[in-house]
Amino acid sequence: MIIDGHNDLVLRMWRGEPSKHLDLDEARRVGFAGGFFALYVPSHSAFAEPEGAPYALPFPDSVPHEEAARIADELYDVLCALPVRRAMSVDDFEEGEITAIVHLEGAEPIADDLSNLQEWYDRGLRSIGLVWSRANAFAEGVPFRFPHGPDTGPGLTDAGRELVAACNGLRILVDVSHLNERGFWDVAELTDAPIVATHSNAHVLCPSTRNLTDRQLDAIRDSGGIVGVNFAVSFLREDGASAAAGTGIDEIGRHIHYLVDRMGIDHVGLGSDFDGATVPEELGGVSGLPLLLETIGERYDAAALAKITHENWLRVLRATWG
Ligand code: ZN
Repeated sequence: MIIDGHNDLVLRMWRGEPSKHLDLDEARRVGFAGGFFALYVPSHSAFAEPEGAPYALPFPDSVPHEEAARIADELYDVLCALPVRRAMSVDDFEEGEITAIVHLEGAEPIADDLSNLQEWYDRGLRSIGLVWSRANAFAEGVPFRFPHGPDTGPGLTDAGRELVAACNGLRILVDVSHLNERGFWDVAELTDAPIVATHSNAHVLCPSTRNLTDRQLDAIRDSGGIVGVNFAVSFLREDGASAAAGTGIDEIGRHIHYLVDRMGIDHVGLGSDFDGATVPEELGGVSGLPLLLETIGERYDAAALAKITHENWLRVLRATWG
């Protein structure tokens, strides 16, 4: 069984584009049991991954709440039309089935006064990334920069603090991927749940703003949390280049091994970013997962590998959702 921290299949379907990485029949065949399915409202300005490093991209446009709420409703309808079940609790995950955690990547669809949060919970929302890589009413994400640390701007707003508390109350998972470092420490101080980075890597191996410093990794470990390793080549490679060709599966293993060494085997999972990023050509997409597991399996026994593929995610979800 494989549980995954992030995919953007819904965005591609909403845009009328075919999936690049996450064919659901293929997913079932390789034991992909689902995970976080992002509802992501794109900025108006087209986003293109930088091809070469160094780079320092400006902030993509902010999206006003009304517009974000309208588009998120459409994205939610797209998700509901997929042949997957929605995760209301951890027990919904089952071998041979694909189970989707409804995840907001960027909290713009939530009203500043949180008046529609309960409604979203009732529709199945179980996870919120406070920000994508832009600013909103709650927090500020990291702009895409390389090489650069994640300390790029201010921490949570008052509304952001209230949102974290409300998520704790409703037992909605709060995701810190894309959040800047001050926001990260604010969440770490406020939350009573394990700290979760659904799709981020080790900054010491790839100094992108999107990756986590050793201090952040230690805080995640100490909270009982998890990092889902992101397969985006520009967050894997030491040189930050967005080159699928010539980037091997071993780059993913490099981050997994480092995180396991730093945090311990209980705090590392997968966070593919399928259909949202350029992944190593050797992996290709979901059909490459068996090869990835074979490659990293050279270093771990079956029990350790099971933690990385699904048990750690299930433990953290259970601790967060109750
Ligand atoms: Zn993302």
